[in-house]
Amino acid sequence: MKDNLQVFDNVLDLIGKTPLIKLNKLTASFDGDFYAKVEAFNPGHSSKDRIALHIIEEAERQGILTPGDTIIETTSGNTGFSIAMVSIIKGYECILAVSSKSSADKIDMLKAMGATVYVCPAHVSADDPRSYYQVAKRLHEERKGSIYINQYFNQLNIDAHYNTTGPEIWKQTEGKITHLIACSGTGGTISGTSKFLKEQNPDVKIIGVDAYGSVLKKYHETREFDENEIYPYRIEGLGKNLIPTATDFDLIDKFVKVTDEDSAHTAREISRTEGLFVGYTSGAAMQAIKQLSEEGEFKKGDKIVVIFPDHGSRYMSKVYSDKWMESQGFFDSKNVTSETIQYI
Ligand code: PMP
Repeated sequence: MKDNLQVFDNVLDLIGKTPLIKLNKLTASFDGDFYAKVEAFNPGHSSKDRIALHIIEEAERQGILTPGDTIIETTSGNTGFSIAMVSIIKGYECILAVSSKSSADKIDMLKAMGATVYVCPAHVSADDPRSYYQVAKRLHEERKGSIYINQYFNQLNIDAHYNTTGPEIWKQTEGKITHLIACSGTGGTISGTSKFLKEQNPDVKIIGVDAYGSVLKKYHETREFDENEIYPYRIEGLGKNLIPTATDFDLIDKFVKVTDEDSAHTAREISRTEGLFVGYTSGAAMQAIKQLSEEGEFKKGDKIVVIFPDHGSRYMSKVYSDKWMESQGFFDSKNVTSETIQYI
């Protein structure tokens, strides 16, 4: 076993420097070597720790934020958890407007971390006063001494990954990375990471993962916002019904779309085969790799890095619940059920 016996001043010192872990079984029959950047190793269990810390510390540097002030954000859960964690250590109040699509365990976790949570309807347009964007905006305007993180439209979201995730992956692959596969929500992860990687080697291929029901892939291909692309889907944190300015579409070579069902099964498969207990979008990213491999995207000797954004424990009432999988009809076509629980 390799050791990590350092002593840290507080939990924030553990943000970033996440491990790159070789995938040994899932990809055994594919051409190329596959590595996962496992962001669940952040203390807040997701990649969002990086942006929470960077955006808050940048506001402090600019003198916009002083202890006792309030930090407000819209979030599907992970960013909220990270902001709440940073707020505790630094002494800020944290208010979060979340989508009703977020899992109950995510919302309870935010409350456990001392945040005040507003749950807003998921299937209303972004400019509806009930949407989580508008609720957060209003709270920010009403509260003196507050900042609005606004992750979808904040350049600092990209910078956080340009400063940390990109250099880490470059170092961990000794500059040999050929492909980066990353889910796109705000687009901060894929944009910041690929900006750094492409500066080192413009040939690194950047592939974004999008959901059916989201506008990102179509926008990338046409630069047009097509409302007809939008319909409800299950995966949280991936895809969007608007065009975030935190996504630099020019840095992304192509997008792949994945289904709710395939992504859910693949998330479960990653846990079972690699021993990495990961979230729904990690399943989506891995599902994209399966599809790309089938299309002949990878060749022997390629070094492919996939980002696994968060931890499976956040999806106990969804992807890791047989009941939920069944209710979605996700067991129907594949003739799969859970056979690992023995009732005596
Ligand atoms: N996966 C999960 C679980 C997320 O919460 C997010 C963030 N919305 C992403 C992937 C996508 O990351 P980004 O916002 O940096 O594009």
